[in-house]
Amino acid sequence: MSHSFHRQLVFTIKDRCRVCFTCVRECPVKAIKIMNGQAEVINDRCIGCGNCVRVCSQGAKIPLRSVDAVYELLKSKSKIAACIAPSFPAEFGEIQDHRLLVGMIRKLGFDFVTEVSFGADIVAREYETMIKNSNYEGDISSDCPAIVYFIRHYHPDMVPYLAPIASPMVAMTRVMKKKHGEELKVVFIGPCFAKKAETTEVEEVLTFRELREMFDSLNIRPENSDPSEFDPPHSGKGAIFPISHGLYYTANNQESIPEERVIIAEGQVNYKEAIKEFEEGYIRKKHLMLLCCEGCIMGPGTSPGGKRFARSNAVGEYVTRKLQNIDRDAWDLDIEEYSKLDLSQSFTPEDRRLEAPSNEEVLNALHSMGKYTPQDHLNCGACGYDTCVDHASAIVKGLAETEMCLPFAIEKLHDSINNLNVSNEKLAKARAALKQSEKLAHMGQLSAGIAHELNNPLGVITMYSNILMDEAPEGEGVRDDLKLIVEQAERCKKIVSGLLNFARKNQVNLTETDVVKFLQHSLNSIVKPDNVTCSVDSTIADPLAKLDIDQMMQVMTNLEKNAIEAMPSGGSLRVSVEGDAEEVTFIVSDTGSGIPKDNMDKLFTPFFTTKEMGKGTGLGLALIYGIVKMHKGKIHVDSNADRLHGPTGTTFRITVPRGK
Ligand code: ADP
Ligand code: MG
Repeated sequence: MSHSFHRQLVFTIKDRCRVCFTCVRECPVKAIKIMNGQAEVINDRCIGCGNCVRVCSQGAKIPLRSVDAVYELLKSKSKIAACIAPSFPAEFGEIQDHRLLVGMIRKLGFDFVTEVSFGADIVAREYETMIKNSNYEGDISSDCPAIVYFIRHYHPDMVPYLAPIASPMVAMTRVMKKKHGEELKVVFIGPCFAKKAETTEVEEVLTFRELREMFDSLNIRPENSDPSEFDPPHSGKGAIFPISHGLYYTANNQESIPEERVIIAEGQVNYKEAIKEFEEGYIRKKHLMLLCCEGCIMGPGTSPGGKRFARSNAVGEYVTRKLQNIDRDAWDLDIEEYSKLDLSQSFTPEDRRLEAPSNEEVLNALHSMGKYTPQDHLNCGACGYDTCVDHASAIVKGLAETEMCLPFAIEKLHDSINNLNVSNEKLAKARAALKQSEKLAHMGQLSAGIAHELNNPLGVITMYSNILMDEAPEGEGVRDDLKLIVEQAERCKKIVSGLLNFARKNQVNLTETDVVKFLQHSLNSIVKPDNVTCSVDSTIADPLAKLDIDQMMQVMTNLEKNAIEAMPSGGSLRVSVEGDAEEVTFIVSDTGSGIPKDNMDKLFTPFFTTKEMGKGTGLGLALIYGIVKMHKGKIHVDSNADRLHGPTGTTFRITVPRGK
């Protein structure tokens, strides 16, 4: 009998998966792949143990459902037998009389209801014969389908050691088909869902949970069902099969198999170790009785939350009652008849081991998670793999992602938070700058309007007061009054022209300029008092840059005038230009009074001035700000107004792109 098909047993409901990696951790064969933050079962690698279904708290792992297929089967004209696994007393503890359960199953429409434990009885005899054979080399029990898949996929060299004996389920199926004809359809009902992929000999496999679902939807309850006995053949000791040591007790019919011949290992840690030691030759001539769960009574197809020892006790009590009432003669006859059946089973290896990645590949994967030194290997297990190296290998094999590493993810999060803080700061600065330029834009509009309206009347006042002054005789008081009017009107004109400058259109007219010559020129066009020494120097290699010469000339002369005005009792004014391939920086430095700290953030506000009436308009730096921004440049001010902190003075640095 071959054994080489594998139905998809577990499905993932993606919306429910919260990527906690518990399934990855609990999967004994790492058949769960994380892709784009989603856990998915790779059917080829799955052995159907059901661990992932059991541990997923979100219900994201769903086992294959057979309920609908069984309803279809029951609707058909075929005769249908239900073969119940011997662990049923563990699941249906609330139904004291097993005959009520049998009645309920019959009510679903089954023609026969039998116990698989008779299959266990005849299979046990095969095991007994095999183990007592003088050529016995040791074997691995083949009754747990998950163990069988585990050997075929991950220890293919051990396949010849799988006991070539049918499982109790398959044996019982063959018995029933012999008894009622090959066209009989068999539905196995049990605690396991790896059974759903064990064989094609059985038509369908229901779990106990699915059986309960069918009872519920058809409202079948013990109270509304008639008690009824199992159909023959009836079993003997085989009923004890599902609890630990079960097969041993069953097989050890004549108490002739010495206990030391048998090694029992249950649960993923134990069975994996047992197989490994068997493969490595540490265990010889032993019968390895392996179960993937803690006895079939705790299988993934049973209701969750069951108490292991209470379940085991329920099976024990059922078997005791059963053996008290057994019809020994009938049993002997059945055993004799069905032992003649072919109870063999063959297995083929199907190697699913993945090639081990090279050291270099593993190192690269480790680096991609920021792990460079042994200290970086926290081996915290949060990803579902025991060690960082295991995780890295899984990444190379395409089963895992770097994002599964929790410490790495946390570090990345910290980085992102830092970056966010930096962007936040930049944003705040940009917002402040935007506010300033908005303010300037409004001021600009207002100023332009006022200046325009004032210009003409001012012109008239200046003209007529000049005429009147010229006409007034020298030495008369009225002439001095008129002189004052002319002076003040001139002052108004100065303010108005400053306003107009400030409000000029937001555009630049760039032309290529030699910045060194330009700097010299700017200094030449201002009035320098004798008590101020002026110097120009430049360290720039390439003096060419594209600037709006008129506007930048205003910037430089305004800065130079401010510097001179800050040094009423003399000092030195130094202007220079430096630059690199991208930018040029003009520097205007004085040894004047300096700017008090409190004034630093008001400097560029229009009309801010500390100069006496008639001297300053407070528009110079506001204008400079506008022009420099239009050149996509920056202004930097350094100043000291406090003698206690060293020599006073101010340095303005204007940096603009070369505009090439
Ligand atoms: P104004 O020169 O008309 O006062 P500005 O906008 O040019 O207007 O300058 C605003 C104020 O900034 C000045 O009144 C002065 O207080 C301060 N300031 C500008 N440049 C200097 C400097 N080089 N040294 C000291 N203070 C300065
Ligand atoms: Mg000024």
